[in-house]
Amino acid sequence: MIDQVVSYVEAHREEYVGRLSDFLRIESVSTDRGNSQEMRRAAQWVCNLMAEAGIQAETMDTGGWPCVVADSGPVAGDAPTILVYGHYDVQPVGDLSLWESGPFEPAIRGGRMYARGSADDKGQLLTHLLAVEAWNRTAGKLPVRVKFIIEGEEEVGSPNLVPFITRYREKLACDYVVISDTTKFDGDTPAITYGTRGLVYKEITLTGPRNDTHSGSFGGTVANPCNVLADVIAGLKDADNRITIPGFYDRVLELSPAERRELEKLPFDERAYLTSVGSPALDGETALPTLVRRWARPTLDVNGLFGGFSGEGPSTIIPARCGAKVSMRIVPDQDPHEISQAFDKAVQAMTPPTVRLSIKTFADARPYLCPIDSRGMNAAVQAVEAGFRIRPVFIREGGTLPILPEFRRILGADSIMMGFCLPDCNLHGPNEFLVLEDFWAGIRTAAFLQDRMADLGPA
Ligand SMILES: [Zn+2]
Repeated sequence: MIDQVVSYVEAHREEYVGRLSDFLRIESVSTDRGNSQEMRRAAQWVCNLMAEAGIQAETMDTGGWPCVVADSGPVAGDAPTILVYGHYDVQPVGDLSLWESGPFEPAIRGGRMYARGSADDKGQLLTHLLAVEAWNRTAGKLPVRVKFIIEGEEEVGSPNLVPFITRYREKLACDYVVISDTTKFDGDTPAITYGTRGLVYKEITLTGPRNDTHSGSFGGTVANPCNVLADVIAGLKDADNRITIPGFYDRVLELSPAERRELEKLPFDERAYLTSVGSPALDGETALPTLVRRWARPTLDVNGLFGGFSGEGPSTIIPARCGAKVSMRIVPDQDPHEISQAFDKAVQAMTPPTVRLSIKTFADARPYLCPIDSRGMNAAVQAVEAGFRIRPVFIREGGTLPILPEFRRILGADSIMMGFCLPDCNLHGPNEFLVLEDFWAGIRTAAFLQDRMADLGPA
């Protein structure tokens, strides 16, 4: 039956492009609270497409922008249930003059669909909906139970998603979450992402004299908060770029031998990577491979410094206060609360009694990692290989997706991330695009995934 489903997909390529264009014309920018009409139109559009695809769907209130939730219903047998997560909201368009065609006027150039949301995430989420439709139109039913949760607040940090999933945990119950909102490894190589880093974000403020004071009259008698801050920051890392916070590395998981083998197979070009970043040389824990540092090692970065005199020309002050924004990307199995406390303690210990210290915490999110040899993962590898006609590689993501550990905690399900867009597809920037061949391969992959999941039988 899968052969007929794939033939159906191939026969409808042009129609799919038309539907993608319709979706991309909706200006569903979630940051703008006044954008209610377009946001609701996008949710309704998804809901209508699900109905056309033959699956029960509804638009549900979340307290913010609505979620679209759908369920294809039970199937005979013990095949696992998959829950597809995606988002219909998009990033703001930024500087319009940098777009070669309007962000909401989908345009095809060189086999690529250009529009805001083409890659992130409208084009990618649509692949799963169209695969459901292809199965229903061809076989009259789906081989597995497929549920959907398509939210409208991903680009604003999903403030209502965890309460929503918690409240509807039974409705959303599943064996695997499937997400297409990541990238391929490169243009030729499809990828499955199986891990993300977490985040701890801090702001340190140091205060000294009551006001900015004269460095001639008072210099040498009271502490300068800027000097102290420089010492504190310098003290957070050693000469080998290792973070000095006591206990920081205690829970860091080493890569498994299987992961290391996968990583060594990747066609990674370090020189091209360096060129794309534009730095004069690479840095970090240089005894470790670049991809390991990028995906599987924790980091500590000063994101900004403030305080003191930074205007033109000289001003001889001892500043009253200064500060730094410092963030840490953490890896499995580091715990954000433990790291947050360890950071505070280390900074307190390094701060002399000659200045006052305050520390704020802005965000913390857990890292995520799932096994690459689970039955669901094997099904996903087979599906991507069949859909793209190239075997996928396993990659991690250096960034943070806070929802993944929440899906595991609330629904007890691991997430399978199959990304169909290019790493340089300008997501969040001007001229975002999705390669149409990847869009069609994504639909085939989603169709194959249902087929391969059906073969798994009971967990
Ligand atoms: Zn996205």
